Amino acid sequence: MRAFRYTAPHRTELTTVPQPDPKPGEVLIKVGAAGACHSDLHIIDAPAGSFPVPLTLGHENAGWIEAVGEGVTGWEKGKAVAIYGIIGCGRCPACLWGRENECRVIPPGGIGISRDGGMAEYVTAPASRLVAIGDLDVAQAAPLTDAGLTPYHAIQLCRDALVPGATCIVIGVGGLGHMAVQILAATTAACIIAVDVRPEALKVAVQSGAHEAILADEDAAQHIRSLVGPQPGGADVVLDFVGADSTLSLGASVVSIGGYFALIGLAGGQLRVVPGVGETGIPFETRLVIPFWGTKAELAEVIALARSGRISAHVERFPLINAQVAYDKLRAGQLSGRAVMLPSAA
Ligand SMILES: [Zn+2]
Ligand SMILES: [Zn+2]
Repeated sequence: MRAFRYTAPHRTELTTVPQPDPKPGEVLIKVGAAGACHSDLHIIDAPAGSFPVPLTLGHENAGWIEAVGEGVTGWEKGKAVAIYGIIGCGRCPACLWGRENECRVIPPGGIGISRDGGMAEYVTAPASRLVAIGDLDVAQAAPLTDAGLTPYHAIQLCRDALVPGATCIVIGVGGLGHMAVQILAATTAACIIAVDVRPEALKVAVQSGAHEAILADEDAAQHIRSLVGPQPGGADVVLDFVGADSTLSLGASVVSIGGYFALIGLAGGQLRVVPGVGETGIPFETRLVIPFWGTKAELAEVIALARSGRISAHVERFPLINAQVAYDKLRAGQLSGRAVMLPSAA
């Protein structure tokens, strides 16, 4: 079968590999769709030894069960499923709570990260990773497993502050940010203020349900302040999907005393943590959270939201043979939606 693989640091290749067999407890999935994620670029660019080589990429996957391995019950051939990408140890306190995204034993890993992923015609996964998607389009379901789940989880962590009338700032309206705006619009009555450097991203934000769209220029903080009021008040929740120095300081400057600041973007910026209110401080009682991916239960909720028609990922479809083109566009920032490979498409 064809597979798009990471073969060495900075190298990827479309190649042919044997079709895998499901081990006991696993299922073989005919891949309907696999999303390309920025994290894949981190894998490709990482120093040698950071990830297994060769590795089929793809941790955002959906498709149809082709075969079930020994001991698997409750799943049958033909069922449409999304694959929850994380594989925790299953035994630590976090895993026991269903929070495999914060497993205390296994470092972040899973399908398409520490074992072969879905950028191939078939992928195997433990049956415990499956979430049924019903009649949801696989090209929608695939990006929801990360680009939908990650913002959903971040919002869940701040949920108690997102009461009607609260304000939530969404910084960076890209693949994850536009889903965050939709999820906020679908599940809260908060005022959603989107911020981005790209005017076209602000258009997407408004289409996704943002009430205000602010260009991230030098006046952005002042503009936001005019909407959320003066210190020590401010935004109840700030979701930073960029994580650069500039967005972190913008977020810190507008978050309310007692608010939430969630850092999701991995641009590598540094947040200066100085308690107090002022130019450079972070207000007292601010809860800083650094969410990672999400739980399987939350993925089921995201799938339910999508099936009810309240959220939909903006996707650009590619045949698997054009995976390199998709990744090149991802790296160059030339995608207008999540790039989704369709290995089963003719
Ligand atoms: Zn990802
Ligand atoms: Zn664990």
